[in-house]
Amino acid sequence: MSATIIRNGRVIDPANKRDEVGDLAIVDGRIAQRSEVRGQRSEIEEIDAKGLIVAPGLIDMHVHLREPGFSHKETIESGARAAAAGGFTTIVCMPNTSPAADNPATIAWIKDRAAQTACVNVLPTGAISKDLAGDELASIGSLAQAGVVAITDDGHCVQNHELMRRAVEYARMVGLPVLDHCQDYNLVGNGVVHEGYWSTLLGLPGWPAAGEEAIVMRNILLAELCDHQIHCQHISAAGSVRLIREARARGVKISGEVCPHHIALTDEAIQNFDTNFKMNPPLRSKTDVDALLEGIADGTLSILASDHAPHADFEKEVEFDAAPFGIVGLETELGLFLDLLVHKHRKSGRRGDTDSSRGEIDIVRLIEMYTVEPARLLRLDAGTLSVGAPADVTLIEPDLEWAVKIDKFQSASRNSPFDGWKLKGRAVRTIVGGKTVWKL
Ligand SMILES: [Zn+2]
Repeated sequence: MSATIIRNGRVIDPANKRDEVGDLAIVDGRIAQRSEVRGQRSEIEEIDAKGLIVAPGLIDMHVHLREPGFSHKETIESGARAAAAGGFTTIVCMPNTSPAADNPATIAWIKDRAAQTACVNVLPTGAISKDLAGDELASIGSLAQAGVVAITDDGHCVQNHELMRRAVEYARMVGLPVLDHCQDYNLVGNGVVHEGYWSTLLGLPGWPAAGEEAIVMRNILLAELCDHQIHCQHISAAGSVRLIREARARGVKISGEVCPHHIALTDEAIQNFDTNFKMNPPLRSKTDVDALLEGIADGTLSILASDHAPHADFEKEVEFDAAPFGIVGLETELGLFLDLLVHKHRKSGRRGDTDSSRGEIDIVRLIEMYTVEPARLLRLDAGTLSVGAPADVTLIEPDLEWAVKIDKFQSASRNSPFDGWKLKGRAVRTIVGGKTVWKL
């Protein structure tokens, strides 16, 4: 028997509409009644949470762990440590590994590896198409049986709408949500940055916003046709927000997520050709950033995630066109979102920096977007502090000012554009199944 009591924190549990200063009890890895702890004969661990927020363990539903196949970028073990250091108790990993997670054997391998090495919960997704090639459906039924929480071809996008329709229908039959990286290959071509002023000025191939919006629209049509959930990953464009808003108002089962870089930065940041500002979808214009913020504020975009995409230095340190897309995000996302959405304290002056002075949401909603929303979408037994739930808990110091230092990252990679940024608010302790797995 083990027991822990977290005292005097501000307990925010959006699933139970709880927001009050109080205690949280844990017995044998589960959230317990306060009275259950008193009956314990063993030693009781006490955690002083005065001045801290006690939240359900945060969930990041968009993470690339690179194992199997690319363990020089990240392993399940190092990625899980990065997650814990960022305040995450559950992460959902994408299937673009090598081999791709398009079959039950690879899913079993990932789950096994996670059970052996990861300090947080790692939930795999399966591919929509074989080898994420978009030609032939993966065996979605077997993937469901193997325990994936969703299907996605993230990093790629099924271009054939009929194939995608069948994927959504199969997913509906086996009860899995469909996640989609929205990119029309014909419209985007070899685009590497947002098509606009900066792409023209710098002579870099443009990735037009319409390349995302076209697939968001396709997904809305299919979600409606198949009456099943499609979740649009890492939304970056104003038009996508407008389409999702209109569709949700009609009751279509469509949702969207936001990554911190898409609201922290604009395409202006690419002018020094630093490949740590190269991501897919790309950094966009101030108009797009404003639309994303509006979408977050009015609930159109309901989920926050990192799109944690580790790459080794030697891979990123090449010319802009040739560098891989993506940045690491697990250890900076909570601070960035607290800063940008709740505090809005950052000063302007950094290149490509967005500047605004009003908060978009309160901290309760921010926690909800990292807990209740992804748990509902993926049907997880997580994201709540209900009695009996797994004791996954994140302690957050909302006003702690700190500086991002990439050389202190737990992640095996360092590809972040946020090195040196001063942020306000971060996780200070991460508890998984009642055990502290990381502490500041
Ligand atoms: Zn993606």
